[in-house]
Amino acid sequence: MNLIFLGAPGAGKGTAANRLSELLDIPHISTGDIFRANISEGTELGKLADQYISQGCLVPDDVTIGMVKARLAEEDCAKGFILDGFPRTIPQAEALDNILAEDGRKIDRAVDIVVSEDKLVERLAYRRVCAACKLSYNLKHSNIGDCCPVCGGSLIMREDDKPKVIAARMAAYHRDTEPLIEYYRNARKLVKVNSEEVVADTFANILAALEIKGV
Ligand code: AMP
Repeated sequence: MNLIFLGAPGAGKGTAANRLSELLDIPHISTGDIFRANISEGTELGKLADQYISQGCLVPDDVTIGMVKARLAEEDCAKGFILDGFPRTIPQAEALDNILAEDGRKIDRAVDIVVSEDKLVERLAYRRVCAACKLSYNLKHSNIGDCCPVCGGSLIMREDDKPKVIAARMAAYHRDTEPLIEYYRNARKLVKVNSEEVVADTFANILAALEIKGV
């Protein structure tokens, strides 16, 4: 299954995509994670991306599209994939359709993960990410202190989850990414999923919307 997870920052795309990727045994491709890995490694791509990410702006389409094209050409994507955080603009969505069509592939479903704006801002404020394994936690719902319960790495707040950057990210979402909902509705690929409650509920809603038998 070739899937896209849409939704504002903090909607829960990454957590749900991670779980679904394990269940379906297909790769979870997060453009944000790829950029952050490049930033940590100090690559040229990372240096370029950081100039945009640190301001809450989108990385230019040509850079992002090239990166995703290369990732989708890897062998593990042949049996399906979950794109998290891509596409984020209409030109990215059109490029994605073209890239997939070159190999006779297509997107099966675009899952729009819907949460109220108040909840999004609250989730970003409480989100902490493991610096080592990159798993994400919500401090409001867990009493885990400063260390990742899975690998023991330090839990940190993403620079772009800090209040001064969040407003710019939300503005970019409304301006550039929200039009994708109409794009995928017109293509008859859109499914909407409520993510207002806890992670387990969101995941159950996603399985139901995609008609996947759960665990
Ligand atoms: P995320 O982890 O998905 O919230 O992404 C973090 C940041 O990476 C975003 O705020 C953007 O600056 C950048 N980014 C991630 N995906 C894309 C994309 N598809 N297009 C442009 N910029 C992106």
